[in-house]
Amino acid sequence: MGRLLALLAALVAGAWIAYTEQQLPESAPVGTPKTEFSGERAFADVNFLAAVPHPVGSVANANVRDAIVGRMLRVGLEPEIRPGVGVQIPRRAPDLILAGRVENIVGILRGRDPSLPALVLMAHYDSVPGSPGAADDLMGVAAALETARAIAARGTPVRDVIVLITDGEEAGLLGANHFFQRDPLARRTGLVMNLEARGSTGRVQMFQTSPQNAGLIRVFQETAVRPASSSLAVMIYEKMPNDTDLTESLRVGIPGLNYAIIGGQFDYHSATSTAANLDRRSLQDMGSQALAMASEIAFSPNLPDPGPSPVYANLFGDVLLAYPTWFGWVLIAAIGVMLVFAVRWARHSGEFPARDLLHGAGAFAFAGAGTAAILQFARRLTGAEFGFLEQRFLLAQSVAWEWAIMLTALGFMMLCAAELARTRRWVAAVPLVAGLACSAFGQLDLIGLVAGVLAAAIGAATYGRPVSRKGAWAGGLIFALALTAILQALAPAAAFVLAWPLFVAALGAAATALSARHGVVAMATLVVLAAVALGWQGGLSHFAFEGMDLMPLFAVQMVTAAMVLWPLAQPDQGRSPARWVGVGVLALGLGLTLSVRADDPWSPRHPKVTYVGYQIEHDTGRAWRFALPGDGSSWTEQVLAADGGSAQLVRQWWWRRPHLRAPARAVEAQPPSITLERNPAGTLRLTAAPPAEARTLEMQVRASTAAQITAIAGVPTSAPLPAGKWVRVNWVSAGEAIDLTIQPAQPGRLDVRYVAGIDRWPAAATPLPPRPTDLMAWDDSDSTFVTGARAFTW
Ligand SMILES: [Zn+2]
Repeated sequence: MGRLLALLAALVAGAWIAYTEQQLPESAPVGTPKTEFSGERAFADVNFLAAVPHPVGSVANANVRDAIVGRMLRVGLEPEIRPGVGVQIPRRAPDLILAGRVENIVGILRGRDPSLPALVLMAHYDSVPGSPGAADDLMGVAAALETARAIAARGTPVRDVIVLITDGEEAGLLGANHFFQRDPLARRTGLVMNLEARGSTGRVQMFQTSPQNAGLIRVFQETAVRPASSSLAVMIYEKMPNDTDLTESLRVGIPGLNYAIIGGQFDYHSATSTAANLDRRSLQDMGSQALAMASEIAFSPNLPDPGPSPVYANLFGDVLLAYPTWFGWVLIAAIGVMLVFAVRWARHSGEFPARDLLHGAGAFAFAGAGTAAILQFARRLTGAEFGFLEQRFLLAQSVAWEWAIMLTALGFMMLCAAELARTRRWVAAVPLVAGLACSAFGQLDLIGLVAGVLAAAIGAATYGRPVSRKGAWAGGLIFALALTAILQALAPAAAFVLAWPLFVAALGAAATALSARHGVVAMATLVVLAAVALGWQGGLSHFAFEGMDLMPLFAVQMVTAAMVLWPLAQPDQGRSPARWVGVGVLALGLGLTLSVRADDPWSPRHPKVTYVGYQIEHDTGRAWRFALPGDGSSWTEQVLAADGGSAQLVRQWWWRRPHLRAPARAVEAQPPSITLERNPAGTLRLTAAPPAEARTLEMQVRASTAAQITAIAGVPTSAPLPAGKWVRVNWVSAGEAIDLTIQPAQPGRLDVRYVAGIDRWPAAATPLPPRPTDLMAWDDSDSTFVTGARAFTW
């Protein structure tokens, strides 16, 4: 019973440490000294700027632009609007070209030596359609302005500080592309700090850096206020298909740091990203962290030197631990030595068979693979599909869902430990059943299947005879050490995730002779070390939970938790009542999962996504009402049926998702004007002017013979037009034309199809009924789309 109480104490203390570490600073009041960052002063800007959605090219965006210029004047920056054209061919979609006219805002705080490379504080002012963008990214804008203001209050900096507020980030990093590729001011940039958001709350993470970041991390380590960052986050972000404006400055080799929040992702790109829903404490956290670093750079005559990237992560409070990659091997060796001593001392107090080590290693592997299977099952059990829009059901109840995952995983781990003390093999069937059941929700679930079968195989070989606690723990730690060594060899930036808690566990193992030592002191040592390790690891788990909808990831978390919890979780051999606790916690976790499934989370704070549009097919004069399927709301049904037609599921070239479409009343619409001319030089010039009021013009072009797009709106490009293949060009602008210079190989034909987007419902159509408050318009919902096609020969 004492062991069970110790386990509970470790869990409670660990959770408390993790919770404390995630706490945000209070937003500093308006009266805070001018040299410091005040969340409340910055929030006043967010409140003022985030009134309505303001995508690039909209009138609302121009209003936000003017307001930012006014604000720059008041805080003592020299503002300037720097217009241009951004062109983006995304790495992962070579047949897509994003382009648009942008108006970047630059505000300069003059330093003493204008010849020194400048510090650039970057954020973007445009929002996605349908979202006021309070967090993404007016929070970044306000933080950059308040940071520059506080630097100015500290005196004249050594180097220039340039506040760069980009335009068109959401449409493809267009403003940053223009600035770093073509604005002469970019050549003066020495370092970029980008401020971003992917949610509306949570700790600010410094999640991305330029390569060779040794000098940067040293300055970050020395100056940052309560830093939250790790080399793992940087490594993961490199593998993710996400981009921010920093991608553009990194592309031209400028060093940089990227800061963002990822908590409260329900509000990301959502109509609910209002000033009222923004956590001002996150704004304070972003500002305090950014000001500390920015001030150091601004007042220092030298920029950080490049050097091999270290391994680093924040511990608690103000500590960021960083060391060179090779030191990871030193840690591994130290852990190995501690484990050898632990095993030797443990054998003094009674031998255990060597094969106990093997069974312990098996139990850890079983716990890891089994966790992946069981959490994948829990994820399926929620009923939510996978995908950006599909998982919003879970984002709307993320607190309950996070608890469900934690309890389910923890319960299973306790079950793994408890059953090792007995002779039952049935426990191997638990992840097998869960893994197979993953496929019972409509489609084959490969993750669940593989994890379940793997876990069952390991479990069947491991369980079935009683294993000593010391032997099991030692075997588990040796298994974890092997995993750490593999990780250190393959991805040293990530190895600390295992190495640090394993170091703590090995310390506990050596100090208590693998828990063979009984008594209050030994037990207290295990509890304290477990709480510290769990508390630290809880922060990482929370970050992983917020950032990724990927259950197998938590297998790693369960192995690291097992490292420190095992000696407390494995009861004495025999019929200990403790073994039922794991089953109870597991049941609690799955019960909570079922309650997440049963809950109707939609409310005015968490409205459900709806998407409707009006399509006018110009060439035929027909019109349709269309909608995203599956929102199940009678409001959407009412919109679709308003003109008496019935809806059918269709796919159209300009929409990635299949959608419901019903005939609608035809209304007048102006098409874009599209022409093709021959230039004297033998090239072709395709000019497309969006109709009045249209903010977007998407075109697909297909050449019958191979050709090349050599310029877009005056910007030299090199985009192939393979013969017979559609290439998509998305243009955003306030009514201005786009022209493409095309270099054909031989005579041929050019097919063009287009969709022009107007940010409102057609005035002549039956108007939209008012939306219930638990529904919201998503992205460019409620817009009019004029579609059609053209063909040219040359
Ligand atoms: Zn953004």
